[in-house]
Amino acid sequence: MKRIFYILILAQLVIALGCNQQSDKQVRVNDLPRIAIAGLAIESSTFSPALTDEKAFHSKTGDSIFMTYPFLSPDSLDRKRANWLPALRGAALPGGIVTREAYESLVTKTLSLLKQNGPYDGLFFDIHGAMSVVGLDDPEGDFIVRIREVIGKETIISTSMDLHGNVSLRLAQNTDLITCYRMAPHEDAMQSKKRAVDNLLSRIESGKGKPAFKAWIPVPILLPGEKTSTRVEPGKSLYEQVAPAAEQEGIVDAAIWIGYAWADEPRNHAVVMVTGDDQEKVTNTAEALATSFWNVRLQFEFIAPTASLKESLDRAIASKKHPFFISDMGDNPTAGGAGDVTWTLKEILTRPEFVSEKGPSLIYASIPGPEFVAKAIEAGVGGKVDAYAGAAIDARYAPPIRLTGTVEAIEHGDQHAETEVVVKTGSVRVVVTKKRKPYHYEADFTRLGLDPRKTDIVVVKIGYLVPELYDMRADWIMALTPGGVDQDLQRLDFKRINRPMFPFDKDMKNPDLRARLVPSSDDL
Ligand SMILES: [Zn+2]
Repeated sequence: MKRIFYILILAQLVIALGCNQQSDKQVRVNDLPRIAIAGLAIESSTFSPALTDEKAFHSKTGDSIFMTYPFLSPDSLDRKRANWLPALRGAALPGGIVTREAYESLVTKTLSLLKQNGPYDGLFFDIHGAMSVVGLDDPEGDFIVRIREVIGKETIISTSMDLHGNVSLRLAQNTDLITCYRMAPHEDAMQSKKRAVDNLLSRIESGKGKPAFKAWIPVPILLPGEKTSTRVEPGKSLYEQVAPAAEQEGIVDAAIWIGYAWADEPRNHAVVMVTGDDQEKVTNTAEALATSFWNVRLQFEFIAPTASLKESLDRAIASKKHPFFISDMGDNPTAGGAGDVTWTLKEILTRPEFVSEKGPSLIYASIPGPEFVAKAIEAGVGGKVDAYAGAAIDARYAPPIRLTGTVEAIEHGDQHAETEVVVKTGSVRVVVTKKRKPYHYEADFTRLGLDPRKTDIVVVKIGYLVPELYDMRADWIMALTPGGVDQDLQRLDFKRINRPMFPFDKDMKNPDLRARLVPSSDDL
């Protein structure tokens, strides 16, 4: 019955598209499937002392959510395929654990907006999957259960995730369709979200509804993203298997999650999921992907040369290749570090090579220091400043750092940093921000009058280099620096992850990688 209904509205839509705007609108409002949008995205480290509050999510409600998705722009095909009812979507920079108050407030707001516009044929659940909340395990699993309590079990939920997210059995059961990125760095983020939406629309339009089978396989591997980029082997070949697996007849989607390595919960591990209508194909495909992953586990290495900071600086100074990039990995704010650890900058400024203006040029991006920024504004461009920055949140490795030098730039208006200052001390230019901000684009530097291409050494709080920096590098090393996202996982104090777990338990036996067929959300 439902299928005939949608064939009818499709026919109406085809007619309407040929007619004037008014009749198009009529069809959209009256007959198209009703689809909600909701979700919260953050990855938060439980090994960082930082806390994330509600403001950090910059949450959008209602129609402003469309701006997040180019494929749902007013003229897009997908926009016309449904009566969209966006509720709330929030996305925060990675950071520390989310306060319980922030989580409860955002969830409560989402649920009340969902209540206003129901019922729904579908819901696009757009999450990252690695949120940690004070005193609550598996927040995304909790969130989807509470959404189900409002929208009911018949609505088809399609979930889109980051491949560094975690898929608990509870999340797997409550969602009907699920997918994640297939590239790290995440060049396919928007494409993946569109796939989640297109799968949802086509299951509704065709009347096929929820896929008959969902296979879920926990894979006992926990690795950092810096070892599992899809740009290099074995991540490259592993993830190249995903698209062909998903395109088979009888399969709706296939996905591999690396999982998030800096939170200490039982759900933190790799997962494979496949959804579709052909039980045998769903099962076999999931098992093949999980087995492929397990079989290459010993081959995952850091994707660029890795060394102590001292050795990284020695190499960069001696190198003839410029710009020489150094990743300050332990405090990477885009993985969940506090972003204000001063240890690396302190080590750089104590090196004699950088004391004179004639030393090798070095850019350090970045360190938050609101008081420093205020003093720099007072001094003005060209003025001298002498003040402290950093270590307001994470002072475990070094205290706030004293920076003395000349103010070379002051820029206002960045969404994350608010105000950015460049201060030159010796041959080092330090970017100090009012609030923490990742430096991922060439324009982040050039806006401040910096030219990273003509600089000898560029040190960034980052893990693997994002595409623009990667393309700019003449050479690159990843420094094993301390912080809330220490890349040496063995140094972290895990207590609650499942054991045995690769690579923590060296001699573990082959795990059970048979597909678990997860009950449908209809059977909740
Ligand atoms: Zn990610």
